[in-house]
Amino acid sequence: FPPEFQQALPILQQIEANGYEAYFVGGSVRDFLLGKAIADVDIATSAFPAEIKAIFPVTIDTGIKHGTVTVLVDHVGYELTTFRTESGYQDFRRPDQVTFVRSLAQDLQRRDFTINALAVRHDGLVIDHFAGLADLRAKQIRAVGAAEARFHEDALRMMRAVRFSSQLGFTIVPETYQSLIDNRALLDKIAVERIHTEFIKMMLSPNWQVGWASFLQTGLVAHVPFFKDQALTMPTFAQRATSALQDEAAVWTMLADVAALSDQQLTVMLRQWKTANQVIAASRASLAFSRKLQAGQAISAADLYQLDDQVLPRLATVGANLGWTVDFADLEQRYQALPIHDAHELAVDGGLLMARLGLTPGPQLGRALKSAEQAVVSGAVINEPETLIVWLRKRLPDMI
Ligand code: ATP
Ligand code: MG
Repeated sequence: FPPEFQQALPILQQIEANGYEAYFVGGSVRDFLLGKAIADVDIATSAFPAEIKAIFPVTIDTGIKHGTVTVLVDHVGYELTTFRTESGYQDFRRPDQVTFVRSLAQDLQRRDFTINALAVRHDGLVIDHFAGLADLRAKQIRAVGAAEARFHEDALRMMRAVRFSSQLGFTIVPETYQSLIDNRALLDKIAVERIHTEFIKMMLSPNWQVGWASFLQTGLVAHVPFFKDQALTMPTFAQRATSALQDEAAVWTMLADVAALSDQQLTVMLRQWKTANQVIAASRASLAFSRKLQAGQAISAADLYQLDDQVLPRLATVGANLGWTVDFADLEQRYQALPIHDAHELAVDGGLLMARLGLTPGPQLGRALKSAEQAVVSGAVINEPETLIVWLRKRLPDMI
């Protein structure tokens, strides 16, 4: 077992010692069997939440209605979910009813793909009711049971299919793939936030073009925010070797760039996708700067100073995917070499200027600080208090 499982093993053993079953399940088992890093360890158990609470002294009711309780071991939280079946899928969304069951097989049956429906027991035994191991070996995404029915239960699974194919570099088997095409319009029913999560996970994988290609070819693209209303065809990125994008803002910047979106269109797109404000700001700043770069404009120290420290590394990952010939190493070096990166690093502040130059709060003080900042950034004067005061004293008469 990898350390992540080793650490959680006492939980399985303790549940078993109390006469219930417990297994590692879901993504952690898949990633473990693939030899990949494990994100979070999910545990499924035949014990009901109240029974789990009787076994472990400290628990948190994470999602008690759905049977999920968090157990703390050495300050690490583990989510324990009671075996369950789901029913009453309304409008192709999440089930509104879950029923706790004692059978692992039933729990595995509700899971989306065969590779996500494996369980591992405390002694290492792998439980594989749906030939998930064979699909793992063949690098395939296959719905558990009939894809058609599974996508009708929860249409988000369609986004998850392309997301996993991208993350894992797996192919989607023909039956499941055909079902994506047939049921793509069901995605309209799914909350934007849920689609967003899967979409970004898909795009942040180094193989994002694998997922992107399926996303386009199945027509899922026509049932997600913004893209669905756009006459513009998103590029296929065919044949291009891709690499990992730095973050979510890199994803949006790249898409906005290839689709030739204006700043305003980018903002509309991100609002429709319910993107966090901070990501919107980062994407807009990145797109704006990338336009300057591509216009072949000379980049001044002042241009670089305006950026936060993520913009250049982010654009370097975008540029690597789009074949830009910009010398990001050089830009990064110039950025690092800026005398200051933020107004707070300026060697003088308002208080000092008032004390030394007899200034009072107001526009003139503001202008003095601004010009000192610009002069330091451009390298016209060094960032040292006495030097700046001498420099400013000379220029004060022009600053009224
Ligand atoms: P990740 O590494 O991104 O966390 P994951 O496979 O663990 O991938 P989660 O969303 O964390 O994905 O879900 C954990 C498990 O729960 C999945 O492996 C799958 O068995 C099951 N699951 C999650 N979402 C669904 C869904 N919409 N339909 C059916 N089963 C699901
Ligand atoms: Mg997970």
